[in-house]
Amino acid sequence: MVAGLDEKLEPIYQEVLHRNPGETEFHQAVREVLETLGPVLVKYPELADRKIIQLCCEPERQIIFRVPWQDDKGQTHINRAFRVEFNSALGPYKGGMRFHPSVYLGIIKFLGFEQIFKNALTGMPIGGGKGGSDFDPKGRSDAEIMRFCQSMMTELYRHLGEYTDVPAGDIGVGQREIGYLFGQYKRITNRYESGVFTGKGLDWGGSRARKEATGFGTVFFTNEMLKVRSDSLDGKTCVVSGSGNVAIYAMEKAMELGAKVVACSDSNGVIVDKEGIDLDLVKQIKEVERRRINAYVQEKKSARYLEDGNIWEVPCHVALPCATQNELNGHDAKALVKNGCIVVAEGANMPCTPEAVRIFSDAGIAFGPGKAANAGGVATSALEMQQNASRDSWTFEHTEERLREIMVDIHRNCYETADEFGAPGNYVTGANITGFLKVGRAMMAMGV
Ligand code: GLU
Repeated sequence: MVAGLDEKLEPIYQEVLHRNPGETEFHQAVREVLETLGPVLVKYPELADRKIIQLCCEPERQIIFRVPWQDDKGQTHINRAFRVEFNSALGPYKGGMRFHPSVYLGIIKFLGFEQIFKNALTGMPIGGGKGGSDFDPKGRSDAEIMRFCQSMMTELYRHLGEYTDVPAGDIGVGQREIGYLFGQYKRITNRYESGVFTGKGLDWGGSRARKEATGFGTVFFTNEMLKVRSDSLDGKTCVVSGSGNVAIYAMEKAMELGAKVVACSDSNGVIVDKEGIDLDLVKQIKEVERRRINAYVQEKKSARYLEDGNIWEVPCHVALPCATQNELNGHDAKALVKNGCIVVAEGANMPCTPEAVRIFSDAGIAFGPGKAANAGGVATSALEMQQNASRDSWTFEHTEERLREIMVDIHRNCYETADEFGAPGNYVTGANITGFLKVGRAMMAMGV
């Protein structure tokens, strides 16, 4: 069953469907926000009068362009790339770049839309945007990745700037890709404009703890969710989907806070290690060797590899979906409820389907939506921009502590706002309303 929309909001949703045909992920993200905004319009009718919601649903600017590049055999390939500059009420457009064959405008718009409210929640001066390409980096050589990134930036550079639009990484884009993108920007513009990219290497303007930030932040948020239930991560069994940057550092922080992580995954299969995941081994396989996660079982006899297995059927107290959108559906949610899960926090963007979220809510499971629970990555990007602006470089401890404080603040704001708007304990409502009000007020102040 799909929840109904307020009578003021239904026409707005219909208009979004009509203007953006076929962009199902974008529709899903918009609907989830609209479902929670009814009480806001009652309390602040001026936001409706000024059409602030409609404005938030229409990107300020969308750039679509061709990226031609040559592979190592000299063959030409043509990819399509996007940068959606969604909302700049709070600061320069900010959000990652995703390289994945599934990328099309609808995915980038869903991610950019989420980013508006997520970035607002961080309390940092950053607007919302997102970009990417349908380029598939899997199996490509270093030189091919470099040529692709350089070709992409040959067009994209003119739309970027530390006061205009500041990309970072996302799926398929890590420090290596940021290096090639930033290098080409620097070459073309003849400016060492550190603040135009985040997620940079430590030797060339990057921030300590940025790599760890999304995963760490998700666990800090989870810890706060448990705290209000007079509980903690200590002694909990934890399952983390994915084995990329977000998943690896979510596992690391969860272990540090006393949890036992028993499973992780990649798009081919699931690793279950009853003794607890050996994180050094995962890092070696994924970060150093860039191999598939099934290599883990060759080293560890206590582990099982389930090809095409379902990670959500592994019993746990804490589930952290850290792979990709819609990876956890209603069926998975039921399995988690049945097996005694008490907390779910999204390290990825929109990994839980609307049906899964409803099942969690009906079962009284604490659910942290990505907008809040994975905001630590972009928050630390904003800390990187701060360090770049002041030509400074902070210690790991200081940066991590700032990140922790930001996540505690986000949790408190979401929790209190949910209470204020009659949905106690509902972090989806709390996150959406807190983020929306912050952006909406700024938009009102600046005029139509
Ligand atoms: N891709 C990350 C996200 O989804 C980080 C974006 C950034 O640091 O700009 O929030």
